[in-house]
Amino acid sequence: MTDAFDVIVVGTRCAGAPTAMLLARKGYRVLAVDRATFPSDTVSTHMVHPLAVRALSNWGLLKSLEETGCPPIDTYAFDFGPFTIAGAPGTEEAPVAYCPRRTVLDKILVDAARAAGAELRESFTVDEVPIENGRAVGIKGHSRGGAPVNERAKVVIGADGRQSFVAEALTPESYDEKPPLLAAYYAYWSGLPMDGRFETYIRERRGFAAAPTHDGMTMVIVGWPYAEFAANKEDIEGNYLKTIAMAESFAPRLADAKRMTRYAGAAVPNYFRKPYGSGFALVGDAGYNRDFITGQGILDAFRDSELCVAALDLALSGRRSFDAAMADYQRQRDVQVKSMYEFTCGLATLEPPPPEMSELFQAVHGNREAMDRFAQMNAGTIRPAEFFAPESVAEIMSAAA
Ligand SMILES: Cc1cc2nc3c(=O)[nH]c(=O)nc-3n(C[C@H](O)[C@H](O)[C@H](O)COP(=O)(O)OP(=O)(O)OC[C@H]3O[C@@H](n4cnc5c(N)ncnc54)[C@H](O)[C@@H]3O)c2cc1C
Repeated sequence: MTDAFDVIVVGTRCAGAPTAMLLARKGYRVLAVDRATFPSDTVSTHMVHPLAVRALSNWGLLKSLEETGCPPIDTYAFDFGPFTIAGAPGTEEAPVAYCPRRTVLDKILVDAARAAGAELRESFTVDEVPIENGRAVGIKGHSRGGAPVNERAKVVIGADGRQSFVAEALTPESYDEKPPLLAAYYAYWSGLPMDGRFETYIRERRGFAAAPTHDGMTMVIVGWPYAEFAANKEDIEGNYLKTIAMAESFAPRLADAKRMTRYAGAAVPNYFRKPYGSGFALVGDAGYNRDFITGQGILDAFRDSELCVAALDLALSGRRSFDAAMADYQRQRDVQVKSMYEFTCGLATLEPPPPEMSELFQAVHGNREAMDRFAQMNAGTIRPAEFFAPESVAEIMSAAA
């Protein structure tokens, strides 16, 4: 049997749509399906850090985002109570972040995949990944209310999120797993100006963050340890507002604002999955997930798309074996995210930092260059492994002394 497609991508949000777009731009025959329709929302806040903005720019999509009127963010501020570390999160070529609603961002990505020549089917649910001789060979699925459909491809890509159907069907090995550590709820507020700042407040076993988004609204997300998830669920608004009240400088600003939406919330597990196997690959949350406290998911999804497409291109064009190319994809992904994974999982416990880390943060405060590096680390612009490297720490401590 011949394959109608080179690649079928399951899921077309932050990971799937760019993957489909980049493959189609290389001339591959791509089918991309999602059970959702676009524009549509998903349970996720949406900090798009500067390196993800750079990816949008490289793909020719930044102008589309700018035209939606989403305000740029040039400063990240971390309020620890006694002091605040505020710095620039980006680089010279990628200086700002954005916090675009997923209704807007995901639609731009889906449209770009379609414009690149990928066949997009919305409202299409994948029900089965057929396997022949141990190899994924396509999908079986259906449109809403439609009859079952079979499609074949050389490679099936799971870009279908944390509850990935593709990963569940093909059972790749998982490693370095950690249970949910944090529970968080968010809502959108009007009348809460942010002046181009993403603000985070760190308090005892609590944290919250605010960022400006579309339509003059500000997204405010509040978190507590996962151990309190069940108890605090009984009174989400009460716990949300109690947490905000822990930051005296922010509470009056929220009191003057108006909540425009319901609260949405989530708690997520942390894991790596081997992102490939016979006839398939995984990108985005389907292959790797870390708590959302550092807002890395969209950046990771964009990076996965680029790495996975580069590897698949080598394999599909016969320049490298599939296994060798995809092993490189896995290696590069893991090297890039490993120290952020540990840093994120540590933060997500909301435990106070160990004394030497508290001392370091105090030393960062007031040191312009170190504050920028701190903001860059939290944005994923530089790796935590670089920020916490002995020579970097020594430099910050000696400047403070
Ligand atoms: C509360 C919360 C806050 C977050 N905040 C941030 C943040 O500020 N910044 C950030 O970068 N990241 C954030 N994240 C993480 C971010 O949401 C994810 O990392 C990102 O959405 C991953 O994109 P994805 O394309 O891999 O998966 P998803 O966005 O989950 O998309 C998967 C798609 O697959 C489709 N799908 C699934 N199964 C099937 C099927 N069987 N058939 C057809 N289609 C299917 C779904 O309909 C969906 O559209 C947050 C997450 C949460 C939960």
